[in-house]
Order: sequence, then structure tokens, then C-alpha cells
Amino acid sequence: MNLILMGAPGAGKGTQSANISAKWNIPAVSTGDLLRGAIKDGTELGMKAKSFMDSGNLVPDELVINIIKEYIGSDKCKNGFILDGFPRSIPQAEALDAMGVKIDLVLSIEVSDEKIIERMSGRRICSGCGASYHILYKPTKAENICDACGASLYTRADDAAETVLNRLETYHAITEPLKEYYSKKGNLVCVTGREKVEDTSAAVLEAISKYEASKK
Ligand code: AMP
Repeated sequence: MNLILMGAPGAGKGTQSANISAKWNIPAVSTGDLLRGAIKDGTELGMKAKSFMDSGNLVPDELVINIIKEYIGSDKCKNGFILDGFPRSIPQAEALDAMGVKIDLVLSIEVSDEKIIERMSGRRICSGCGASYHILYKPTKAENICDACGASLYTRADDAAETVLNRLETYHAITEPLKEYYSKKGNLVCVTGREKVEDTSAAVLEAISKYEASKK
């Protein structure tokens, strides 16, 4: 199964992609994670991507298309994959089509802008293992210390309030038109992102099971 997870920044794509990956045993890739990794490693890609990411803008299409091409072509994707945060623009979706990749299902997690702003302003990331927390919805046991590895937490530069607004604007202007693109192809399913992660997970898993049943 080849799956795309869409949704505004902070809609919960990463969490849901990890869930689906574990349940269906298919690998998931997040272009955001790959780009952050490249920045951490100081690679040429990372240096090119950093200023776009820090300001809440999209990284140029050709950079992300190349990393996805390499990933999808790798051996581990031969039985399927989950794309988290790619494509994020019509040219990226067209590039995916041009690669000859068949997409089975596009899941869009729908969350209001108001909720997104609330979620992202409280998001904290572990500087050691990368685990994600929220000051209200998923607090750590000891303040600012990761439950899993004990390292300190930080706020992602692109979660700063003004950057979040820019990311939302970018999402509505450049990424959201993909819903129409995939709806016309007949493989878009929208799922409402709920307050509780488990409820969203249940809705996502139900949508995938429904899709699978319809193919039998
Ligand atoms: P994410 O972790 O998915 O929220 O992505 C963080 C940032 O990485 C985004 O705000 C963009 O700057 C960049 N990024 C991730 N995926 C893409 C993509 N498919 N196209 C362009 N930029 C991307």
C-alpha cells in the first residue's frame, strides 16, 4: 500500500504515520525529518533548506523531489510506503506521478487553524531522542525533561507564533489545493483530527480498513 498523509502543520501527521507504519508494517518517511536531519548533519541539502524552514516557507520543490525519489526507489519501499508531508505542492504531486508511482490512498487530517495554533505553541521536542511533547496535552513528568531519555526539551524554531501563521498560510495557499488534485483522482479521504490522539488514530485506521475492504 502506497499512502500519503496530508494535513496542516501540527495536524498530527507524524504521530499517525508512526501508528500506520507499525500496524501495517510499511516504512514511513517524513520530508521534514529528513530535512532536519540534513541540517543537523550540516550537509549541502541542509544548508540550502535551513532558511526556508526557519521562516516557515516551503523548501524548493526540486530539493525535496530528489530526496523522495531516492527514498521511494530504495529497496525498503518495495512493499509500500507512507509519505508524511510530501507532496506539499502541485508540482511535487506531478513529480510523483512522473516517477510512475501509484498512490492508493491520500489521507487528509483536518484540524481548524485555531486548534493548530494552540497545538503548535505548546509543542516541545526532546534535544536527545527527538520525542514530541505538549505542555498541555502531553506534558513530561519533570518540567522540560524528556521522560524517555532525560535530555532537555526545546521549541522548534518554526513553531514560533509568527512562523506558525506563515506555515498555515503556506499550507492553505500551496498545499491544500492538493486535496482537489487527489479528489479528482478518486483517492482522497478526509479524517477529522480529534482532541485525543487515540480518537484520531481510530478514525485513521478505520479509513484505511475501509479502503482495503473496498479493494477485496
Ligand atoms: P514538517 O516537519 O512536515 O512540519 O516540515 C517542516 C518544514 O520542512 C516545512 O515547514 C518546510 O519548510 C519543510 N518541508 C517539509 N516537507 C516539505 C515538502 N514536501 N516540500 C517543501 N518543504 C517541505
